[in-house]
Amino acid sequence: MPVIGKLNIVVTGGAGFIGSHLCDRLVQKGHMVTCVDNLHTGRFDNVRPLLNHRNFSFAEADVREPLDIGGPVDRIYNLACPASPPHYQTDPIGTVKTCVLGALHVLELARSTGARVLQASTSEVYGDPEIHPQPESYRGSVNPIGPRACYDEGKRCAEALFFDYRRMHGVAVKVARIFNTYGPRMLENDGRVISNFVVQALRNKPITLYGDGSQTRSFCYVEDLLNGLELLMESDDQVTGPINLGNPREVTVKEIAHMVLAQTGSRSRLAYHPLPQDDPRRRKPEIGAAAQALGWQPSIPLEQGLRSTIDYFALKVATPAPAAAP
Ligand code: NAD
Ligand code: UDP
Repeated sequence: MPVIGKLNIVVTGGAGFIGSHLCDRLVQKGHMVTCVDNLHTGRFDNVRPLLNHRNFSFAEADVREPLDIGGPVDRIYNLACPASPPHYQTDPIGTVKTCVLGALHVLELARSTGARVLQASTSEVYGDPEIHPQPESYRGSVNPIGPRACYDEGKRCAEALFFDYRRMHGVAVKVARIFNTYGPRMLENDGRVISNFVVQALRNKPITLYGDGSQTRSFCYVEDLLNGLELLMESDDQVTGPINLGNPREVTVKEIAHMVLAQTGSRSRLAYHPLPQDDPRRRKPEIGAAAQALGWQPSIPLEQGLRSTIDYFALKVATPAPAAAP
């Protein structure tokens, strides 16, 4: 990782799963971090310990409104957006606005402050891919009118805006296409596959397999992803992406279920449910570009990442959720 001086960094979505780990890491490195979050799917508890640091501040704000940080800004990580299908589909119009207006507002902030700005884009821009594994040059196969479109098309439009701001206004942009990422601090009711299976297994409840479980995903542990995000942000201005960040080990959803059952020693049974509409059949990142441009590759095996995630949820499941909100 390049050694850089103390920077003023804004993290939108900083109270969420990935964002709160990023805030932790940036504060530990001595940067001044402002977390902007409307607490839609994030939790104040994720960043509460950081309030003891002079370097950290929390702004409860919505990226669908213009952002006023009131000071210098060197870097903006734009992570604000619900990422789990049940969450982003609950308020699809709100999701589109978060993706599109959120991108506009961080780009305007970058333009007015001269900050560099990184977009947390997604493998969902590839939709249900016909090319496997997916390289950055693949333009995707997204259903523009389906239930996932609010997220997929919202993120695609955000990418378009990022490159328009670079061309029109010379804003220094970076676009990471993040593949499925997991780890501690996912919500118990997040709805994504790893958190669902782990919580179900720990409670000895049925494991909810959608479809026949033969669809695949490639899971990246959150620490590996953060290394990639930071390397991309601090890379040369010419390195704009879009660049895939993900773990190329591809597993079926059924394999994940069996791994979780084995690691938890659970008595849960498998329960089959209908496959949601437009659920991608397979997904695996091509990560040659990240290796070449950033010297990045993931290093944490799925078994090890699952262990940490299970340990985290084991404490959560044993302890009742705190009632306190900010
Ligand atoms: P998350 O839901 O845990 O975090 C999202 C955060 O954004 C939450 O804290 C939420 O409260 C906040 N937020 C949502 N709408 C907002 C708004 N309008 N204004 C301000 N804050 C808002 O999700 P995550 O998994 O941490 O994902 C973070 C980012 O990474 C998202 O942009 C997501 O699209 C992207 N991403 C995640 C994955 C993954 O597998 N986790 C994969 C691809 C892309
Ligand atoms: N999935 C599942 N059971 C669950 C949650 C998800 O079988 O309880 C499946 C889902 O249908 C998809 C895969 O797991 O095929 C990954 O789903 P997730 O929502 O985690 O991520 P995404 O579909 O956005 O990649």
